[in-house]
Amino acid sequence: MTDTPQETLANLLTETRRFDPPPALAATANVTAEAYEQASADRLGFWEQAARRLHWGTDWEQTLDWTNPPFAKWFIGGKLNVAYNCLDRHVEAGNGDRVAIYWEGEPAGDERVVTYAELLTEVKKAANALTDLGVVAGDRVAIYLPMIPEAAVAMLACARIGATHNVVFGGFSVDALSGRINDATAKVVITADGGYRRGKPSALKPTVDESVALAPSVEKVLVVRRTGEDVAWTDKDVWWHDAVGGASEDHEAQDFDAEHPLFILYTSGTTAKPKGILHTTGGYLTQASYTHHAVFDLKPESDVYWCTADIGWVTGHSYIVYGPLSNGATQVMYEGTPDTPHRGRFWEIVEKYKVTLLYTAPTAIRTFAKWGDDIPAKFDLSSLRILGSVGEPINPEAWIWYRDNIGSGKTPIVDTWWQTETGAMMISPLPGVTSTKPGSAQRPLPGIAADVVDDEGNSVPNGGGGYLVLREPWPSMLRTIWGDDQRFIDTYWSKFDAMYFAGDGAKRDDDGDIWLLGRVDDVMLVSGHNISTTEVESALVSHPKVAESAVVGATDPITGQGIVAFVILRGSVEPDDGLTTELRNHVAAKLGPIAKPRQIMLVPELPKTRSGKIMRRLLRDVAEHRSLGDVTTLQDSAVMDLISQGMDKGK
Ligand code: ATP
Ligand code: MG
Repeated sequence: MTDTPQETLANLLTETRRFDPPPALAATANVTAEAYEQASADRLGFWEQAARRLHWGTDWEQTLDWTNPPFAKWFIGGKLNVAYNCLDRHVEAGNGDRVAIYWEGEPAGDERVVTYAELLTEVKKAANALTDLGVVAGDRVAIYLPMIPEAAVAMLACARIGATHNVVFGGFSVDALSGRINDATAKVVITADGGYRRGKPSALKPTVDESVALAPSVEKVLVVRRTGEDVAWTDKDVWWHDAVGGASEDHEAQDFDAEHPLFILYTSGTTAKPKGILHTTGGYLTQASYTHHAVFDLKPESDVYWCTADIGWVTGHSYIVYGPLSNGATQVMYEGTPDTPHRGRFWEIVEKYKVTLLYTAPTAIRTFAKWGDDIPAKFDLSSLRILGSVGEPINPEAWIWYRDNIGSGKTPIVDTWWQTETGAMMISPLPGVTSTKPGSAQRPLPGIAADVVDDEGNSVPNGGGGYLVLREPWPSMLRTIWGDDQRFIDTYWSKFDAMYFAGDGAKRDDDGDIWLLGRVDDVMLVSGHNISTTEVESALVSHPKVAESAVVGATDPITGQGIVAFVILRGSVEPDDGLTTELRNHVAAKLGPIAKPRQIMLVPELPKTRSGKIMRRLLRDVAEHRSLGDVTTLQDSAVMDLISQGMDKGK
């Protein structure tokens, strides 16, 4: 027997802990419960009001054109300049001396403080330099940089002149980089000689050289000197310090159409080959800016914000560059890894800059928990007032660890669900409003029509599970997949009629709050029951010996699929013979016998994308003894060899 649609994507885990907003935060919150009412009474009016937070050179005539779905247009006829909104207007308002970026390099003592006025000057010079290199509005520029201020400067300079940027993680291989340059037919590449990773210079330029040789569209390569190591030089190469350093500081920002293409960004590739997601100007900036203001309750005069994402991930676009800077935030930007030179580096940075708002990912939180509570305990983290999470479902135990060990048991946690495709946050608690639940993203933000539906596209009742969809267009939605309208339609708009299919499973609890259950592609079908990978993983992580786990369904002759769990133990735990049985029984006790893993593999690491997401499809390939699918976005390919060897031994 198979489940009824309401039971699709099993709904097994119960979590009853609740945390009310601190009263002081609630009393001064930027956004109150009224916003939900306003938006439900007049959704387009609500987004117009959010758009008014920006500076428009020309007003829009129409808020939304949805006459040719799924191709949306927002703020039709409106014109604005994104860089002007992120920089000039703050300087013109007298805030030029405010720090925009406290940059912390990986080598200790390597730091820079950049004010809004200085950032504006750099962006104007870079805009002139790009223009001198022949870049005009509509051209594509690939950016392949480490986490240095020039990464933000490069993005904003492109935005300022209407060039569409295409940022690629500064760690991807020639295949991944050249593929993205070619797909976007980029005219210019902005890169660096290298960056620092784990205490050592790590070269970027050789990868660019090889990629450019495969990419006929590239005319010029602009190279930032970061590490000072020797680099090969071609006649396409231009030093940043020559071109930008020598450029004029005068540059007047010109307005672009609200639907002008702002950037292309490829998805993480967790489930499939990455897709080139296209975002445009007015709607994107409206929602990136509003959500940052609302969900982080940003007070630009007093907060110090830090988002630990890489600029090459959508979180870096919306919540390092466009959201915070459009709001005039002061933020920390860190170049390196969390364990260089020691495992307390993040907490040292929080203490040093008195960070108030921290935004990081579950993968990092689980790693910190694995390293031990004593490490953050050595630092003064009392400045923190809101903690954010993004990237994957956060296991309730990791959520509690984050709140207790980083947030002194007091700070609200905002678990923000969104995607490269959505451009900005879609489902999240509001820190001054929501009574939070560990592991749940909870409620669609004001103005967002998220729903959980069954196979037929009907909303599931409270207590039910199904597919996460978006029923109405939103300002920062992707406009298409670059160069492939048909893939855009097929991927997101074909499963259900007139709804955006996010590809994630979700359940709605008895209060109507939403819990994300992982990718629909990852859901396991065991003896006719749909079981979510996230729930089995959360059950494993709730065992005191487990730091992290990834669960997949592997073909099984008897049950259809069998649950195979890959588990990383906490730092101090020594495995003994009975451990895997103990863990299997723990899952059965938490979730019921149906969810008991067929096999548990103890592993040292899990395969992750560069943005830290677990790539379950590769583990499924291993568990089913297939050759691996697309691995271009994998962080460390040696991990797969280790896991495959362990799997063969365990056969
Ligand atoms: P691809 O689409 O190429 O497989 P990807 O989906 O990993 O890659 P992203 O756009 O970086 O690429 O990630 C978005 C996905 O991340 C969401 O669809 C969801 O699965 C997951 N996600 C992000 N934030 C959360 C969250 N707060 N809770 C649960 N899942 C989240
Ligand atoms: Mg995706």
